[in-house]
Amino acid sequence: MHPRTILYAFLLTAVSVEAPAQIVADTVFVHGKVWTENPQQPQAEAVAILGNRIAAVGSSTAILKLAGPSTKLIDLGGKRVLPGFNDAHVHFVAGGTSLASVQLGDTKSEAQFRQRIADYAKNQPKGAWILEGEWDHERWSPARLPTHQSIDDVSADNPVFVSRLDGHEALANALAMKLAGVDKDTKDVPGGVIVRDADGNPTGIFKDAAQGLIERVIPPANQQQLRVSIEAAEKYAAENGVTSVQDMSAAPDTLRVYEALYHEGKLTVRISGRQPLQSWKRLAGPGIQANFGSESLQIGGLKGFADGSLGSTTAWLFQPYVDAPNSSGIPSDELSKPDEMYANIRDADKAGLQVAIHAIGDRANNAILNFYERAERENGPWPAGTERRFRIEHAQHLIASDIPRFARLHVIASMQPYQCIDDGRWAEKRIGPERLKTTHAYRSMLDAGATLAFGSDWPVAPMVPLMGIYAAATRRTLDGKNPNGWVPEQKIKVAEAVHAYTVASAFAEGEEAVKGEIAPGKLADLVVLSDDILHIDPVKIEHTRVEMTIFDGKIVYQRP
Ligand SMILES: [Zn+2]
Repeated sequence: MHPRTILYAFLLTAVSVEAPAQIVADTVFVHGKVWTENPQQPQAEAVAILGNRIAAVGSSTAILKLAGPSTKLIDLGGKRVLPGFNDAHVHFVAGGTSLASVQLGDTKSEAQFRQRIADYAKNQPKGAWILEGEWDHERWSPARLPTHQSIDDVSADNPVFVSRLDGHEALANALAMKLAGVDKDTKDVPGGVIVRDADGNPTGIFKDAAQGLIERVIPPANQQQLRVSIEAAEKYAAENGVTSVQDMSAAPDTLRVYEALYHEGKLTVRISGRQPLQSWKRLAGPGIQANFGSESLQIGGLKGFADGSLGSTTAWLFQPYVDAPNSSGIPSDELSKPDEMYANIRDADKAGLQVAIHAIGDRANNAILNFYERAERENGPWPAGTERRFRIEHAQHLIASDIPRFARLHVIASMQPYQCIDDGRWAEKRIGPERLKTTHAYRSMLDAGATLAFGSDWPVAPMVPLMGIYAAATRRTLDGKNPNGWVPEQKIKVAEAVHAYTVASAFAEGEEAVKGEIAPGKLADLVVLSDDILHIDPVKIEHTRVEMTIFDGKIVYQRP
């Protein structure tokens, strides 16, 4: 049992609905349709909150008895209530930064891409870097990668390094390459690709580890800039009903800002921050283990990389790409030294830290499952009262025989359903029809008994859990070409997707004892929706809105 569960047992017994007169709630929500995710009491009408905890769940009549003169009473008018969403995979600072940076995600052509950069650059001080952007050349026709020549003349005074939406490749302009000292003579780096023209000159596109060649000259954001990004990200989270995020790139500088915001009472989302796998000793040294920290801010998780992405043809596959027959993708920089990577996984696990590895291609997933299997065998079970929770981030393309291994090895699949309706537009041309059957294989994974935790990978995809639920339940691709679903056998039920965004994502971070359910004693994180997504046609979830977000017992967002 999680140690905190014992602490809350007191609260739980003190406020059961059978003894209502004992407490006066701070807030009561009545006349709603509450989907609790608590198997003991799956549905209810009303919820009472005391402090930052759920005090009682029950009928409106029972819960109203907990209201006193000072209690805030909210009539839900029959609206659907769910536990607050927990996005299991985000890049919170990059996301927050992207909200304020040049917006390239919806550009429909290279010309429009160029124009957006031109317009944005006009308003930037000379020398300021232009970053993020989240462009996607798969939306253009022809779907051709841009080059530095397409933007040099409109960004002469500003170094540009704008990312493709998956973060696995980025376009530099000539000035950025000059500042980084990158030219024809620069050698490729392991786990990365410098795309070159016929004469060997870099085109401006840097894939995976090669992005580091440019990144190393980008000045790091200062504390004030980080704060602006994080506050923008928090606001966006609240608007979308997200009350917890698992930040895959919580660098030390970022943690400092989270900590400051927490002490100022300005943190409106719970954060579980991860550090790079290779840096595990930095955490293990002072004795940090999984779930170190508080309910608001935790460290103790690590993230490594096994490969790149399908969109950048760097996902590592067993068989070649259909549209790039000479390539099967590439293992990451880390995985290209497999013994060293394995040792990091094994030793971090032995130190009680939680390991999560990004793996997209089937070969990358297979390699990591093998590592996890071996580490479990060599390290044995975790000490009593704790539980190893290995994770694979994305688990996007799998060979059929690896699907049951997630359940057997207790490896959590942390997946991002929005990417299925996004990649579904073009994935077939990359990997052909056969491999599609085990791509974003939600149904097969659940049927095999695996734990699915859902997230967005924001800013790769919008941090909008309702769109993730819509995607998992309908698999209707963004281009409208698959009205009955892309690989429809892999659709899952709305309730299953809600579970993956609440309880299961709490489990994936080891916090299921305190959140993910609307139950007495749990943290008071809730979301109220405009429609009853559990009963409407899943296709309509696309238009469902968040009406209200409650975090830590307080309303942090209300739809105007
Ligand atoms: Zn990610």
